[in-house]
Amino acid sequence: MLERKEIEAKYKWDLSAIYKDEAAVEEDFSLCEKLISEFSRHEGEMLSSAEGLLSTMDDVTKISAKIEKLWCYSYLAFVVDTKNNKAQGLVARVRTLAARADSATWFVSPYILRLDGSTVSRWYEEQPRLKDYERMIEKTLREKPYTLSDECEKLMAKLSDCIDSHESIRGIFANSDLQFGKIKDENGKKVQLADTNYVMYLMSGDRGVRRSAFQTLYKTYEQFANTFGTLYSSYVKEQCTLAKMRGYKSSIVASTFRDEVTPVIYNNLIKSVRRSLPTIYDYYELKREVLGVDRLHMYDLYAPLVSECEREYSYDEAVSEVLDMAKVFGDEYYDTLKSGLTERGWVDVYPSVGKQGGAFSAGTPETEPYILLNYNGKFDDVSTLAHEAGHSMHSYFSRKNNLPHDSQYTIFVAEVASTVNELLLAHKKLSECESDNERLSILDGLMETYKGTLYRQTMFAEFERDMHAKAERGEPLTAEVISSHYKKLVCKYFGPKVVKDRQIAYEWMRIPHFYSAFYVYKYATCISAASAIVKRIETEGDAYVSKYIEFLKCGGKISPLDSLKVAGIDMSDPEVINGAIEDFAEAIRLFREIYGKKR
Ligand SMILES: [Zn+2]
Repeated sequence: MLERKEIEAKYKWDLSAIYKDEAAVEEDFSLCEKLISEFSRHEGEMLSSAEGLLSTMDDVTKISAKIEKLWCYSYLAFVVDTKNNKAQGLVARVRTLAARADSATWFVSPYILRLDGSTVSRWYEEQPRLKDYERMIEKTLREKPYTLSDECEKLMAKLSDCIDSHESIRGIFANSDLQFGKIKDENGKKVQLADTNYVMYLMSGDRGVRRSAFQTLYKTYEQFANTFGTLYSSYVKEQCTLAKMRGYKSSIVASTFRDEVTPVIYNNLIKSVRRSLPTIYDYYELKREVLGVDRLHMYDLYAPLVSECEREYSYDEAVSEVLDMAKVFGDEYYDTLKSGLTERGWVDVYPSVGKQGGAFSAGTPETEPYILLNYNGKFDDVSTLAHEAGHSMHSYFSRKNNLPHDSQYTIFVAEVASTVNELLLAHKKLSECESDNERLSILDGLMETYKGTLYRQTMFAEFERDMHAKAERGEPLTAEVISSHYKKLVCKYFGPKVVKDRQIAYEWMRIPHFYSAFYVYKYATCISAASAIVKRIETEGDAYVSKYIEFLKCGGKISPLDSLKVAGIDMSDPEVINGAIEDFAEAIRLFREIYGKKR
């Protein structure tokens, strides 16, 4: 692996575009510290007049904008060189600053909650600029029915450190304390198995390696079933109790309320996916045929259908592939992305010593929407660039068309623009490329995405819903109850032909997302929305694209369901989910056709 200094400058972030030198960084630190130390003056004036509220909102948003910018700068410097002491120090300083800001501005939300609707409306008329904060104020006010007395809220805030600790306990236990033992890899070499490298062995072309990784991993998990059961049960009970305490009907109502969604959307997803289970059964049958095994086991599910594709893409080729795909979005999208990728240094491209793995898009209204890659020349990497470019362009349009504090779109729509790009790129390459092997490899990736994002996450969503409902009915959640329910869902979602190896009942123990209640369904709804958007772009062209761009411009200014409606997508319509399932079915059909022809 290369040292960072060996990589050409044009393939690295130039963070001096955020702060030109250290003095500029320090200037923002001082400015922010000054705003924080003077912030207490707002406590007395905030509710006294429209002016008082306005100046409080001005300062609180100024503080958070500065902290975001400082965070972005120091975090980006850190992730490309995680051993860099200076960057580590800067990250720590920004964390401390953010904690100070939190405690100095503690009263803003509780005080907004003291306002009534008529006062707020009158103040909007008295001081029209206050309207700039309307969305922020309304979002706080909608929590009013679920807010406790000041005394109780203070108590809750004090407890917040110990509430919410289940996820970190699970993580430390599974990733540091548990010893999973060793397995033999493809070359017969003994290697240490960990939760973090487990999936890599499950993707092995060698069935023996896959089976041994599966059996070895779950042997350890099984021994600690009661600990995991108690931990998960206590988390679920905590979530249900917190929801009840605040006056929500249930924990699912509380979570979806915070997403500005409803349990109906959640349940519709499960219903639609359940109805389409024969499609995924068909996929597993295809997998069995191609792998050439009598019966497909749980440890065969990640095995690739196509041996790695020989086609490699240089990074410059990847950029032109992605830009070529982006032409469909019109001039502003295309030109902005082109200058971001080729002139304005959005992307940190190659892996290097000390650089964090993976990929992401990050930025603030005052910076470019940067992209981290660990580019390695495979089609997967081209697809990742398209994905992250989708995030960055969503941020670009959101930030350009909204005030900074309204520009952040929510998680419910966050993976839409990125997945649109991924799907469009896959479709485009499928129609262009001439090598059957490359087309099969793209289809394999596409089917894997639908399997992992649509079906698996929906199964998880159903599991969570059932576990929380059981807890709310007062039924005990023991390891046995949880495992047997999980196994039941696996039987349903994998169909009669796949062998449900006994150990799969313990899989829930290794899913960290179950400790962020009702989170994962958003992956499934996002890919469904994205698939519907792609279909309309491909069939309706420019007439539809302008609606899609309007959706990107919504940012966080309106609710996620309303912003999707701007793109003509109604998440309460089961057809949105069904469309994604059709796209999946088409990928299966096409794979069979090309694969059959090859043989
Ligand atoms: Zn993403």
